[in-house]
Amino acid sequence: MIETTTGIGMATVVTGRIHFDTRGDADMVDLTAEVRRFVKDTGLSNGAVTVFFPGATGAVTTLEFEPGVIKDFSNMFDRIISPDEHYEHNVTHPDENGHAHVRAGLLGPSLVFPFEHGELCLGRWQEICFVCFDNRPRERTVIVQALGVA
Ligand code: ZN
Repeated sequence: MIETTTGIGMATVVTGRIHFDTRGDADMVDLTAEVRRFVKDTGLSNGAVTVFFPGATGAVTTLEFEPGVIKDFSNMFDRIISPDEHYEHNVTHPDENGHAHVRAGLLGPSLVFPFEHGELCLGRWQEICFVCFDNRPRERTVIVQALGVA
């Protein structure tokens, strides 16, 4: 089962942040290139990088980042967590984004990606995607944290 083992001793933790703007309404942003560059910049060869969104109306997932899948994904959320349903959050809060909170909770705020020889172990058609579920444009920050050995 184990394919490679590298390093005896201290591992290194490197933390960074990726900033970007989103339009809301299930807007998707491909973070793959920035996460890949971050892993390279750490100088670590083997380990794992966590991609974590500290917020309540966005989420991190992987998709094939092409217009068809992006639209299919957005359509799926319109079916299963429609903004037109009743949300108690919209009664207790004036921001009218109850559906965004529920969608974000379902998809989750983070994923962990292994890297080997400085390269992310992603599939050929697998991209790291941030999804903004809010009902308005936002400025977003995602935390990337690599744990590994040089
Ligand atoms: Zn809210």
